Amino acid sequence: MKNNALVVVDMLYDFIDGSLACQNADNAVRETLKFIDAQTKGQGGEDHEILDTFPILFIRDHHPADHSSFAEQGGIWPPHCVAGTHGGEIHKDLLPYVREELTFDKGCDRTVEQYSGFDGVNNAGQSLGEILELLDTSEVYVCGIATEYCVRNTCEDLLKAGFKVRLLKDCIAYVDHDGHLKALEEMAAEGISIE
Ligand SMILES: [Zn+2]
Repeated sequence: MKNNALVVVDMLYDFIDGSLACQNADNAVRETLKFIDAQTKGQGGEDHEILDTFPILFIRDHHPADHSSFAEQGGIWPPHCVAGTHGGEIHKDLLPYVREELTFDKGCDRTVEQYSGFDGVNNAGQSLGEILELLDTSEVYVCGIATEYCVRNTCEDLLKAGFKVRLLKDCIAYVDHDGHLKALEEMAAEGISIE
């Protein structure tokens, strides 16, 4: 049987309460933890057991301090998620589920804006798409920040690669509420399941 997996996009402090804090972020983290808990029922509830049967993959926006997407360099965003800073770290409540080989960094190249986590790479240089194939994944749940940008781009790339994509609507945060609703509508029309 094929496996399910969860992809957690950019649940990082700068997007939660930092320089690019998004709406609904605290709630999205709480709901994500609830979702993960629900997957453990009947399995003993030990973290390593969950990860063997239900891989959880983390995406991190991970920029150099002079990244081209920052306003100072002519980009549209305030500085955020600079590698090695608190703002670029995954929310502490999720850390028990984080595995280094299942953590994928994107936006590492100074000159490239990279909203999608699909091409993010782990410390061994393997991409998210590659690892999902290796894990024999068919259905991918997605949650994270922000709906209109990194969540959407990640969902669309997963769909293009042939995965069934299930976006957890209570587990996402957004820059703008109307933009969030519009993105959900458009993603649903593309074939992404909003649940
Ligand atoms: Zn970024």
